[in-house]
Amino acid sequence: MSNFEQTRHFTVERGTAPQPARVTLVGAGPGDPELLTLKAVRVLAAARIVLYDHLVSKEVLKLVPPGADLVYVGKESSHHTLPQEDIVELMLRLARSGRPVVRLKGGDPYTFGRGGEEAQALAEAGVPFEVIPGISAAQGAAACAGIPLTHRDHASSVQWVTGHLRAGAQDAMSLDWPALVRPRQTLVVYMGLASLPILSAQLIHHGMKPQTPAALVERATLPSQRTLVGTLQTLPSLAQQHEVCSPALIIIGSVVSLHRVLAPAAADRASIDQAQGLLATL
Ligand code: SAH
Repeated sequence: MSNFEQTRHFTVERGTAPQPARVTLVGAGPGDPELLTLKAVRVLAAARIVLYDHLVSKEVLKLVPPGADLVYVGKESSHHTLPQEDIVELMLRLARSGRPVVRLKGGDPYTFGRGGEEAQALAEAGVPFEVIPGISAAQGAAACAGIPLTHRDHASSVQWVTGHLRAGAQDAMSLDWPALVRPRQTLVVYMGLASLPILSAQLIHHGMKPQTPAALVERATLPSQRTLVGTLQTLPSLAQQHEVCSPALIIIGSVVSLHRVLAPAAADRASIDQAQGLLATL
């Protein structure tokens, strides 16, 4: 039986509690379980039912006790396993039946994860909830790829944006381009792999230098992390050439040049060698 089927056949006892139980939205971080907060670890260890997303790593799921119900609710871009409304509906039904729910989300729940919408639905339904922040992909990727997001010599601000293309808008992205190309700024793009060619072309069109250093960090913080470093112009072809897969984060800006010096040798050796090779060819 697939995870989805398990989700659909999941049954909820109704009307057993006068007050709804609590839902805890937990940030699972970018993958490495060592990056969970102590609070997240404590909540996971006591969990009885956990609804988790596609981006939550296997290593993090191992912290859920064996007797707990582990429900995969998916959410890969383009083919959501369970529609967002159904995830909310399931959370509400469980909480109303008196079962405390842990809602485990990749990275930080309030960063590009629709955690805000889930919290809104809980608040509107009068279901008590708590949010435990997580290390977002940007922070995990920055640390593990050796790319500080700000640096006195390079960038005094950072923008986190989504590169997700809306359905039916395959050649357009509704981003504030002039704001994205400001100098002394780092740009971090979530969900930008599919739109990378458009992103690169638009940033160049709006005045960003084609030679601006740019990186792709695939599976940040996991043992299989890969970091590809090139320029704004070359990054789309590098991604294609090296068959970069999701999840991947794009970092654009002068700070990326620090990767050569700062990439921690132990964590990312294969990628460093590759990236330096690529840099050498620029
Ligand atoms: N709430 C999450 C973001 C969810 S959006 C967070 O705070 O990190 C999903 C996107 O996050 C992916 O498409 C990818 O761009 C990025 N992402 C998540 N985990 C990642 C990882 N381990 N490595 C690289 N990018 C990651």
